[in-house]
Amino acid sequence: MHESLLDREGLVEDQRLRAMSELGQDYLKAGLLDRAEAVFSKLLDTPQHGQARTYLLEIFVQEKDWQKAIDAARLLEKDTSKPLNADIAHFYCELALLEAARGNPDVAASHLQQALSSNRLSVRANLMAGDLDAAAGRHEAAIADWRLVETQSAVHMALVVDRVLGSYRQLGRLNEGVQWLRALYARQPSHDVFGALYLAVSESDGAEAARQLAREELRRNPSLRTLDRLLEAELVNAEPDARELLQIEKSLVASHSQRMMRYQCGSCGFKAKQFFWRCPACGRWDSFDPERSEGEG
Ligand SMILES: [Zn+2]
Repeated sequence: MHESLLDREGLVEDQRLRAMSELGQDYLKAGLLDRAEAVFSKLLDTPQHGQARTYLLEIFVQEKDWQKAIDAARLLEKDTSKPLNADIAHFYCELALLEAARGNPDVAASHLQQALSSNRLSVRANLMAGDLDAAAGRHEAAIADWRLVETQSAVHMALVVDRVLGSYRQLGRLNEGVQWLRALYARQPSHDVFGALYLAVSESDGAEAARQLAREELRRNPSLRTLDRLLEAELVNAEPDARELLQIEKSLVASHSQRMMRYQCGSCGFKAKQFFWRCPACGRWDSFDPERSEGEG
């Protein structure tokens, strides 16, 4: 008799907590973040705490309250023993971004160090450390930061090559940059790395060298983007009567290729012109492919 009463009380309590959690989720979906936060905070001392912490983390991320997100993620890691160190590194990078925008590069740099302590494979931390160094005119240091990315994730060099070349240019050593880029391209051939190499070669070695490079690449790895570059290089030295047609071909290829070139989320398939560290559609961190693809649509 008593036992079944207790069972029923337990059941009622369980239902009440579930209803609270559902209410919190409704608030979250409606974008009423303050209300959602209040509901889930009340659930922290109940058996629903694991789920509540997951939602709280989501709320702090949406609110861009990165310090709270870091604290929540650490507690959630303890709760679930699911590692969140890569996400935490992003939260530190977000803090660094805010501090850099406020004109506090030293504080920003220390957040980037924290990001790397949380996740030594944080590409974004080295990328941003390079940005800070370059902004302060420390181009040697910036190049060193960016080149570290290759040791973390070689495919992410696609996001870095233009920056590295920019700093070599600032140092008046573009030739050295081109040499480095040629070697990188041999190790890590990709369309985006090729694009940077093509521009750098045409700048440092001239249109004929760039044309040779584009011809070789087109044979090895045919794509609209490479065809676009080849046509561009051929236009430079084209005879006047061939120019007009070449120009039409080039603009057709260019518009088609640019329309198709997109970064894509590997998790939900969302496509975008710009690269995101966190997918705006599914909310996942690090789900975007760092290289653009010439996909349909
Ligand atoms: Zn996604």
